[in-house]
Amino acid sequence: MGKGNKGKIDNLGRIVIPKTIRKALDIDHNDDISMYVENNQLIITKGHKSCDICGNKKVDVQVKDKFLCSKCLKTIKSL
Ligand SMILES: [Zn+2]
Repeated sequence: MGKGNKGKIDNLGRIVIPKTIRKALDIDHNDDISMYVENNQLIITKGHKSCDICGNKKVDVQVKDKFLCSKCLKTIKSL
């Protein structure tokens, strides 16, 4: 797999993940992925991220490299 897969974001904000990358990650259409920002880079991972505190699958916020659900965010805010 080459290092320099190039792509463009279309007018709806979509990107195409090249076949070579999909193959390398073993992902196919309708698979779940997660996207987040780390060190100013877009990271796309297989499957879903979960809350780093309670494990809730519904992540609402990212704080640096941590993912939080709205419940835990509320708890932290009320500390
Ligand atoms: Zn949580």
